[in-house]
Amino acid sequence: MLAVAQTFALVGVEARRVQVEVDVSRGLPAFSIVGLPDAAVREARERVRGALINSGFEFPMRRIIANLAPADLRKVGPGFDLAIAAALLVASGQIPGDVLESHAFAGELALDGGIRGVSGLLAMAEAGRGRLRGVVVATANGPEAALVEGVDVLPLERVEQLAALARGEWRPPRPSPAKPPPASGELPDLADLRGQPWLRRSLEVAAAGGHSMLMVGSAGVGKSLAARRVPSIMPGLEHDEALEISRIASACGRLAPGELAPRPFRAPHHTVSAAGLVGGGTPPRAGEVTLAHRGVLFLDELGEFSRTALEALRQPLEEGSVTIVRAGHAVSLPCRFMLIAAANPCPCGRGPDSERCRCGPAEVNRYEAKLSGPLADRIDICAWVGQPDAAAMAESPGESSAVVRDRVAAARSRQAERLGAGRCNAEMTPVEMRSHCRLAKEARAAIADQHAKLGLSGRGHERVLRVARTLADLDGRERIGAGHIMQAANLRKREAA
Ligand SMILES: [Zn+2]
Repeated sequence: MLAVAQTFALVGVEARRVQVEVDVSRGLPAFSIVGLPDAAVREARERVRGALINSGFEFPMRRIIANLAPADLRKVGPGFDLAIAAALLVASGQIPGDVLESHAFAGELALDGGIRGVSGLLAMAEAGRGRLRGVVVATANGPEAALVEGVDVLPLERVEQLAALARGEWRPPRPSPAKPPPASGELPDLADLRGQPWLRRSLEVAAAGGHSMLMVGSAGVGKSLAARRVPSIMPGLEHDEALEISRIASACGRLAPGELAPRPFRAPHHTVSAAGLVGGGTPPRAGEVTLAHRGVLFLDELGEFSRTALEALRQPLEEGSVTIVRAGHAVSLPCRFMLIAAANPCPCGRGPDSERCRCGPAEVNRYEAKLSGPLADRIDICAWVGQPDAAAMAESPGESSAVVRDRVAAARSRQAERLGAGRCNAEMTPVEMRSHCRLAKEARAAIADQHAKLGLSGRGHERVLRVARTLADLDGRERIGAGHIMQAANLRKREAA
């Protein structure tokens, strides 16, 4: 007898429909799984057998074939167990088959019959919306699936509950949806940054417009401390953004049970490969840029990253998405992130002005060339960070994150009105720039002046305009003034301490 259950395979951070066809027929007892399964899927045979026997079901001593269709899509991981078990129970006449027609199944089985949660449930529940009545999942995945409205969520603790569910004798209550994580009040606070008014201003402008930023300064001036405080000055997440981030975190197995994902802060080590940074591999995996979507990607010691890794960042920075092509399938992964990079002024980290610096001019030049390499043109703001003096260290704490965040949020809401929800000035297309960055006469003169002084490239010119747009937004002005242009140009100069 043949039975068909619905489930999903995860491709990148998206869910694709998969049908599990189980055929139980006469012949020598055997159990095979076909349809491009990986090792974990093939091992489903042992888990399904153990789970069914230990839950009081009968494991049919017949020829069993489970086919996962479409056959050209690679099936990865243990999430197909529950669908295979459900179809097998129907095909062997142990439970009625109606539930298979209206619901998808996703869960890993334990040998004792328990059901474990799987990655990517949020994407799966969304993919099922409108096409299926609901999803049968592990209890651990219930809150995540319940985030999707219009889909019936049936969380199960153990595989034996399938029998009562299929017979219509019992239904688990809908779980309450996952909740936002503890508020950003618990993030490290900008008040910890003593002195450094220029750096504070740069961070605020960067956060307000979603601009990429480079901090240059000797070791120990607080670059990393500053970067880690950027999420705390970014506005709270809209529900849709939180869902989007959570979908990615879930697909990558990083979502805490029962919680929505917070705004990401990713700080990969400088030994990261290009694939680790932007994604890749077989099957395609999300890289750091995707894990940082709608959050911050912090590259500390920028000069130490490999050139190939930094080159690979260019396309994601420009386009806000990465496309990975593997075996004829293209997977597109979102990656709108704020790049914050930090670099020492010279290889030893003390800075050429320091008496203890032993770096030769050639070494310093080579190091600077590396910094102004592949990414320099794509960085909107550059802040030179000096050592805070003793007086600054003794000052009372500066403005807290909450105060700065209010100004950033106000500037961002102006941008959202202009560009659409969730979008910011750093993402403006050339067409949007033409209509939203109109300059008054004196502002036009100011940018022509800066263009000559700084020797701006076409892209550099555009970046000054974007930052000026953000400065005007922080001021609550619709028009970009000459002052905004001057400040924006200053935010590009390394020496502007
Ligand atoms: Zn040095």
